[in-house]
Amino acid sequence: MPQTDLPPFFSRTTSGELQIEDTSVGTIVDRFGSPTYAYSRAAIESAYHALDGAFGERAHRICYAVKANSNIGILSVLARLGAGFDIVSYGELARVQAAGGDPAKTVFSGVGKSADEIRGALAAGIGCLNVESEAELRRIAAIASEMNRIAPISLRVNPDVDARTHPYISTGLKDNKFGIAIDDALPLYEWAHAQPSLDVTGIDCHIGSQLTDVSPFRDAAERVMTLAHQLAERGIELEHLDLGGGLGIRYIDETPPSAADWIEAIRSVVDADPLARDLPIWIEPGRFLVGPAGAMLTRVEYLKPGEHKSFAIVDAAMNDLMRPALYGSDMAIVSAGTGTGRRLARDWEIVGPVCETGDFLGHDRALELAEGDLLAVLGAGAYGFSMASNYNTRPRPAEVLVDGDTCHEIRRREPLESLWALERLPPGD
Ligand SMILES: *Cc1c(COP(=O)(O)O)cnc(C)c1O
Repeated sequence: MPQTDLPPFFSRTTSGELQIEDTSVGTIVDRFGSPTYAYSRAAIESAYHALDGAFGERAHRICYAVKANSNIGILSVLARLGAGFDIVSYGELARVQAAGGDPAKTVFSGVGKSADEIRGALAAGIGCLNVESEAELRRIAAIASEMNRIAPISLRVNPDVDARTHPYISTGLKDNKFGIAIDDALPLYEWAHAQPSLDVTGIDCHIGSQLTDVSPFRDAAERVMTLAHQLAERGIELEHLDLGGGLGIRYIDETPPSAADWIEAIRSVVDADPLARDLPIWIEPGRFLVGPAGAMLTRVEYLKPGEHKSFAIVDAAMNDLMRPALYGSDMAIVSAGTGTGRRLARDWEIVGPVCETGDFLGHDRALELAEGDLLAVLGAGAYGFSMASNYNTRPRPAEVLVDGDTCHEIRRREPLESLWALERLPPGD
């Protein structure tokens, strides 16, 4: 496993201690315990500015995909930068509102929006519903009509391009459950255009996650433009194009496009087309904005060196960080450099205490370790805490936002009793 460079805003002191901005991770764990998620505020802001700046003068909206990291402290940082949001449940909309985000700058994606979720989103003044099927379109038209409202909608089309990413996070192929096949979209747009309770405002697509090549983005934008022309010919005028999220990040040795490369790929298509020249471009990045900003800090509990495999058992597990177990994904694990005493150099299996063989954070990691050492799993700001569970009755980690040499606890570690606070004993005899 090659050693990765540290992400921006992560560094080492001369004595080898890992720092996030100007705060040592040892200090964070002393204050907030282990395991803990720590995020660099400057890293989030700098990723946002990189995308924002790449649009130059072109009208655009950056809708942060809330599911990547839905802590209201993170949402608030993004809302203050002017971000919109991309949500996939009514719960996420409630979080956006709790964080001071604007529902009018929020788009609602997802294949299974319930009637209550649609009602709640319309009542809150959602910016756009990204519709993923004909049945959903009809449901939205009926609900909006009942509520005496006009629902702003776009169809999430499936452009049938291969994002060439992990099959579980590839969403733009015609066999995926997501979106409406682009070839079927035209009659649905015509139907929607004729409904008094619907306002057709855009086209949406999102082809997958952790893309490491720009060409699928370009292909998807081209197909979306073809559809936009067909709509224009039928008198259906659009107010925006939403080209989704999915820009990848470096976990180990990937070489993803930069923010500028991604936006340039999109602009190479839309800037060249007179029909799109004045259309605002919306994007829905999640991972890119928050992934590299975060690390999960975890302590080595026990070392079990063996003849074939050597295990380092840490205090974080698959319930705290699911990506390795769920996708088999490799994430960089580095020493925080805070331990003392004799260390053992091995290729370690970094595993957690959960009773599943799939409970690992990393395989074959060449590290010098001692019990009590602190490790940092890098790139954990996205799809880390937001996918965490209480499996094995493990309270979820604390979350900390680092800002220079100060830290804010944006979520405290779960108190144990809260894990069964909603449970009740059945009546006795
Ligand atoms: C998950 C998701 C995103 C964000 O994907 P990233 O890979 O995190 O950028 C954007 N749009 C939709 C519809 C999604 O489901």
